[in-house]
Amino acid sequence: MQKPDCPASLNTSPSGVRDADLTVLSQTMAQCCKNIKETVQLLASRHKDIHGSVSKVGKAIDRNFDAEVSAVVAETVWDSPERQKYLSETIVEHLYRQGMLSVAEDLCQESGVVIDMSMKQPFLELNRILEALRMQDLRPALEWAVTNRQRLLDLNSTLEFKLHRLYFISLLNGGITNQLEALQYARHFQPFASQHQRDIQILMGSLVYLRHGIENSPYRSLLETNQWAEICNSFTRDACALLGLSVESPLSVSFASGCMALPVLMNIKQVIEQRQCSGVWTHKDELPIEIDLGKKCWYHSVFACPILRQQTSESNPPMKLICGHVISRDALNKLTNAGKLKCPYCPMEQNPSDAKQIFF
Ligand SMILES: [Zn+2]
Repeated sequence: MQKPDCPASLNTSPSGVRDADLTVLSQTMAQCCKNIKETVQLLASRHKDIHGSVSKVGKAIDRNFDAEVSAVVAETVWDSPERQKYLSETIVEHLYRQGMLSVAEDLCQESGVVIDMSMKQPFLELNRILEALRMQDLRPALEWAVTNRQRLLDLNSTLEFKLHRLYFISLLNGGITNQLEALQYARHFQPFASQHQRDIQILMGSLVYLRHGIENSPYRSLLETNQWAEICNSFTRDACALLGLSVESPLSVSFASGCMALPVLMNIKQVIEQRQCSGVWTHKDELPIEIDLGKKCWYHSVFACPILRQQTSESNPPMKLICGHVISRDALNKLTNAGKLKCPYCPMEQNPSDAKQIFF
């Protein structure tokens, strides 16, 4: 800050501080004050924007939140200890899936639910690998994929290739210093050569630009950062499929379905009360209308009996006759005459006890 050439620097104040220094100091202080003021103003205006939105959210929740949902729920639904046990188990399983192990253990202790170690183990492993993936560490996932290679291939999964590809890209990210390692790592692509030829060509092509930086080359799309989120999703999906688990926990599926169904049910309840036809919805195990939860919630096809035109259920399951035709058990009982059944379709005569239950 000293300016020895400036004549002002020769003037000194009684305390020995040069006037020029004081001027510079006061200018710097003024600039600092200005900066602080601007930052505070910016923060205040941003806070105002956010506050506006946040307060609107609060009002929207108050307006739409109906605390009284018991009208559409059967009061006795959680009465039996067995059902409460199911609920606790479902919550514990959800917590394990989320990696909240200590919370799950506490809930087990407090609710008296006993969880078998064999049920816990897969979730512990999945979470360990996912945690590493989130930290951009591919090794545990790669080890897992190599161990389960054949089973993954049986599921038509491309997870192992995707993991090797991402590992290779992370090497490219390191620039020219990783060139040799990247070339050596490329050998891992060999088993996938026929299935992923195009992808492998692109990865190899990018090596040409390693010296000048992939980010300035036609291959810059290889460095997109959302690949890490994608690999976490791929891993979760394929690992769950391999372990015979659903991707979403039963609790989150039930919760999401409830969120979709509840507003519809509340409306129906209101309409029923307004028109004073309370007898319409007495069976609380059964919904008064069909609620479409979207394709995501279709887990299996539904068989409707071609004779009675009813959906089959646990109490009225689909039955396969020996001729191969399928009808519901109620229809089978109705069509049985003197211990004999004539298939309404072929029409082959047969013993109704030969029919086999094919679902539930
Ligand atoms: Zn038949």
